[in-house]
Amino acid sequence: MAEGPVDHEVVIVGAGFGGMGAGIEFKRLGVVDIAILEREDDLGGTWHVNHYPGLAVDIASVTYSYSFEPNPFWSRLFAPGAELKRYAEHVADAYDLRRHMEFGVVVESAEWDDDAGRWTVHTADGSSRTARYLVTATGFLSQPHTPDFPGMDTFAGDVIHTTAWRDGYDFGGRRAAVIGTGATAVQLIPEIARTARELTVFQRTPIWVVPKVDFPIPRPVQQIFARIPAAQKAARVVNTSLLEMLMVFGVLHYKQAKPGNQLAALLAKTHMRLQVRDAATRRALTPHYDFGCKRPTFSNTYFRVFNQRNVHLETGTIESVVPNGIVTADGTRIDVDTLVLATGFNLWDVNFPAFTIIGRDGRDLGKWWRDGRFQAYEGITVPKFPNFLTLNSPYSYSGLSYFTTIEGQMKHIARLFGEMRRRGTSRFEVTEAANAKFLERATKNLESSVFYAGDCSTSRSYYFNQHGEATLLRPNATLTTLHEQGSFPLGDYEYA
Ligand code: NAP
Repeated sequence: MAEGPVDHEVVIVGAGFGGMGAGIEFKRLGVVDIAILEREDDLGGTWHVNHYPGLAVDIASVTYSYSFEPNPFWSRLFAPGAELKRYAEHVADAYDLRRHMEFGVVVESAEWDDDAGRWTVHTADGSSRTARYLVTATGFLSQPHTPDFPGMDTFAGDVIHTTAWRDGYDFGGRRAAVIGTGATAVQLIPEIARTARELTVFQRTPIWVVPKVDFPIPRPVQQIFARIPAAQKAARVVNTSLLEMLMVFGVLHYKQAKPGNQLAALLAKTHMRLQVRDAATRRALTPHYDFGCKRPTFSNTYFRVFNQRNVHLETGTIESVVPNGIVTADGTRIDVDTLVLATGFNLWDVNFPAFTIIGRDGRDLGKWWRDGRFQAYEGITVPKFPNFLTLNSPYSYSGLSYFTTIEGQMKHIARLFGEMRRRGTSRFEVTEAANAKFLERATKNLESSVFYAGDCSTSRSYYFNQHGEATLLRPNATLTTLHEQGSFPLGDYEYA
């Protein structure tokens, strides 16, 4: 098929670990004309944007990193956020990715031109560029959610969303409020509680919190990891296997592994029992949904803060925000100087996809997903979207670590582009039949997961989309996913 000229062979949107992984894979394939467009002013994705106090990984660092680029020098088992940002910089340098990156470029839309066989990508500065292949690596948790409480704009104090942290912000002498009790809040609240005069934590839905086994990695161990990479590899295998049991098997095979799931909930309850003195507070902090419905979190310091005299747990519904505080549904007014929004992200309304993407025959990806069912073949390609790879798709997240997700997708890219090279073609599109089969399998596999076989009714989990379907996780063992990404039937695609 005749193909028109392009500005770039590949445009990747997003310079986080996903976009960098795709960039590394394309470079391995010998593609040199790659543009990585990033809306922020630097690389690193979530690890560039988030820098609130207490930020750290919640997947031990031996696992939460590329397997092909281990970092022997993590300072702790769970590295602090700043180390992840440095690791991202290291990867960009090691794989010579920086020269492909353009910062402050906000992609607004992209559409497929079937005659010319190329994508046109439009950016907020009014310009556009063309590419043979489009890859979106815009993250799952990248569109901050800011609740629209009545009176929000009248608040006289400071409002800080956790994704727009003001470094060095001094809570000393202030009456702070944190809205939200997700993984971010669990890390941040103990830090604010240290210095704030008063801290009120607004909890709508409690979260399961288990102990965090964390410690500094001694220098000699780091040196062993540096000299004997197999030692770190072994540590990765052990840690990854444990996580696979907890975060993947336990969640996906809830029906079969219910006692294990209940044991995890018991561990979290015991952890709380040992840390929170007041029984009423413990009751309020206890979730009423199954472990795993919502991504559980790890902390040794979160529960304890509720024993502090300056910390108050508020479970009343927020009715409105007034210039100097928050009013709850029963009319109580809580005075607040600084309002911290640990209110997370909007996934399903604005992030799938993160900008308008129009494929063949005018199919609008976001509309198609929302009006029908969220779906993507192997969590990476979509029928009627030729030459398009969407890394943050329905059913793409491995459930274990974002890095296992990315590395599976890198295998997929390698196999797909290897086949195109063999055939001497430049266009691919997944077939409707292959996509439908994958969706059917994912739907079936999810039946025994905690999302459907358990009780998630009160969880308000972002794993569920607006139709009530849990379409974020790929319902497979991680090893199965990695295997399938590298061995999918080549006939699942049409090539031209
Ligand atoms: P989140 O889990 O979505 O939590 C948002 C919180 O804000 C929830 O408690 C939510 O309550 C509350 N909220 C939202 N709108 C509200 C409203 N209108 N009124 C009252 N409360 C409201 O977001 P997150 O804590 O930022 O974490 C998101 C994900 O990021 C995590 O699950 C994790 O995967 C990742 N993360 C990882 C790390 C790490 O360790 N590396 C750290 C932070 C985050 P409801 O539950 O009732 O909706």
